[in-house]
This record gives sequence, C-alpha cells and structure tokens, in this order.
Amino acid sequence: MTTIAVLRETAPSEQRVAQVPETVRKLVERGLRVNVERGAGLAAHLDDAEYEKAGAHVTPDAATTLRGARVVLKVQRPSEAEASQLPPESILVAFLAPAPGCPLLARLARGRVDALAMENVPRTTRAQAIDALSSQATVAGYKAVLLGASLCPRLLPMLTTAAGTLTPAKVLVLGAGVAGLQAIATAKRLGALVSAFDVRPAVREQVQSLGALFVEAPALGAQAEVTGGYAARLSEERQRLVLETIAGQLPNMDLVITTAQVRGGAAPRLITAKMLRRMRPGAVIVDLAAEAGGNCELTTPGEAVREAGVTVIGPTNLASSVPLHASMMYAKNQLALLGLIAKDGAVKLDLSDDIVSSMLLVHAGAVRA
Ligand code: NAD
Repeated sequence: MTTIAVLRETAPSEQRVAQVPETVRKLVERGLRVNVERGAGLAAHLDDAEYEKAGAHVTPDAATTLRGARVVLKVQRPSEAEASQLPPESILVAFLAPAPGCPLLARLARGRVDALAMENVPRTTRAQAIDALSSQATVAGYKAVLLGASLCPRLLPMLTTAAGTLTPAKVLVLGAGVAGLQAIATAKRLGALVSAFDVRPAVREQVQSLGALFVEAPALGAQAEVTGGYAARLSEERQRLVLETIAGQLPNMDLVITTAQVRGGAAPRLITAKMLRRMRPGAVIVDLAAEAGGNCELTTPGEAVREAGVTVIGPTNLASSVPLHASMMYAKNQLALLGLIAKDGAVKLDLSDDIVSSMLLVHAGAVRA
C-alpha cells in the first residue's frame, strides 16, 4: 500500500499543517495509507484523535512517520536535518523557495528524493485547485486588513450613534492580485471606503465589482501587462507616473495595504519615505511585500516602524497566523495534486504534464534546470 507521510512543521512560528483530518479521510478513501506525525496539527487546533478518526496512523516521531513513505507532505521547506531523513525514491511536496545556489535541492538530489515546489504551480485554470500561492495569499489579504484596522486610531465603518457620527475610514489597496482583491473585500465588509490601484488595467473591473474605486493612472497605458496576467517591471518613466498617482492618494488615507509583486524580482517601490511623511498622523501601512523587499521604503520585515506619526508593518508568513483555515486550504491544494500524481493507489510523476513539470525541481537524483 502506498504511504503518504505528513510531518509536523518545525520552522519557527509556522503553525500550519500540510493535511487536515477532512483531506486525510479522502486520501484514505482513495486506498492510501496516511502517517501523521504526532502533534502535527496542534498549532492549527487539530488534535491527533481527529486524525485517527479520519483513518490516519498517528506516528510518534518523524522517523516513524517517514518509514516506507512514497510521498512526504509539508508546508515549509525541510531543514538540513529533516532533508537527510527523507527516504530515497520518495517525493517531497512543500513550499521550497529555493534561493539561487541554495544547497537544499542538491541535498535532496543526493538523497534521491524528488521534489515538487508548491510555489511553482502554473497559474492556469486546470491547476487552480492546486494553487497554494493563491489560497495562502487569500488568507494574507484578509488578515492584513484586520492587522491594519487594529492599529488604526479610528474605526473603519461609518457609525451614527447618540455620541455622534463617525465618518468611514479610507483604505487604499496597492496591487489588486489575489491578496489585494481579498484585502479590498475585507475592508469593504468592515465598512471602509476602499480604493485600489494596479498597473494592470484588466483589474479595474474586478476592483469595481467589489464595490471599490479604481484609481486611474491614464498615462500608464496597457503595456504594464505581460503574458500570463502578471505585471512587468515598469520603465523609469512609468514608475514615475505610478508614484505620482499614488502620492496624490496617500494624504487622504487612513489605512494602506500594499501587495504589489513582480515575478522573479524585488517588489516595486510604491511609497517613498517622502510620500509617507505627507500622510495623516495615525495612518497605517501594511506591507505584504515585506519579504520581497517591501513596497514601502521604510518597511522592515517582521517589525513595526513609526515615522511622522505613521505606522508601517511588514508582516511575514501571515497565512500561518490564521492556521486552521490556511491549513484547510493548503491541504485541499495538496489533495488536488495527489489526485493528479496518485492514481489507483500508485504514485507516478508524468513529466509530460505541465503542472508536474513546472513543479518538479529535483528528479531522479538531479536538480532540474
Ligand atoms: P502578484 O502577487 O504577482 O502581484 C500582486 C499584484 O501587484 C498584481 O495584481 C500586480 O499586477 C500588481 N503590481 C505589480 N507591480 C505593480 C506596481 N508597480 N504598482 C501597482 N501594482 C503592481 O499577483 P498574484 O496575486 O499572484 O496574481 C497575478 C495574476 O495572476 C493575476 O492576473 C491573477 O488573476 C492571476 N492568477 C491566475 C490564476 C489562475 O488562473 N489559476 C491564479 C492566481 C492568479
């Protein structure tokens, strides 16, 4: 019988787990044996008894969990010590985030472990159910607004009370991809007046359908779009137009959520220190691009910075701070992947499949180019 191993996450502050009882049950129904390391779901409030009820074998430690495993499911990339424990000929599935020259992939290749990277799922309709970047960005976009709202010195909704009338807060979302659209929806639900800006004009309709105002940068044109729907890095002139447009908005804003990313590079700089100093005292910036260098010049990953009465936070691994639902969504993404690679109880990597081929970083003892 094919064995799937679910390891407990060991990275500091990682609270998610790769599989939840609901998805374990589905794997068991498909004729797979599922080993879950003891306590794997505890940080996400899922206890071992629930996994056992779903048909999992709860195993006392990583070594026992990995015994005979054909597929190893994780959220975060394994540490050096974890990587050395993975069984030869197994397939590791996790966010692998390989930096250039990172020794992990070579280590996996030496151990004859194949590796599928969850961040390399193609952004196609067929791959949508496997797309963990999107599911986790959805959680991050939601949580960013809650964090920002909790730091604001004012309420977000308009209130008419016996103690007076409060005007709604103004929220600006920069970058209206997956995280940005969820931030818009969340800020709307909290009653704020929301506007959003993105260099891809195709986003306008999505922003407006959420009831937010799309900030236009008319001179920008349509060239910011590239194939696959992703934004391209802007020319100096276009970047200047973007900063001008954003600078015109910032002085009126109470909360700004920034999410702008450009594939394969540093995050674009959208708020300079000079622009920030023209904002209202008490305003808050939540920079979701902190780990990619930040959209705001003052962002420090994982820290809160105060400048001219404005607070800037650059939260990292935000999805992990909503561990139950983030795990449920991630587990569904991995379940969908297993539907692709585990058929009739047997696991096979079909390299002619574009999803498998995009995700596969290490195969048959070699790191793939
Ligand atoms: P992302 O995380 O790469 O970037 C976030 C947003 O920042 C994007 O909307 C981008 O246009 C914007 N941005 C980049 N530079 C900017 C700048 N200088 N100023 C303002 N905004 C800027 O994006 P994402 O959330 O991963 O989504 C990117 C695209 O992929 C979208 O078109 C989305 O609809 C698409 N997508 C498709 C699928 C699918 O088909 N399965 C799944 C997910 C996303």
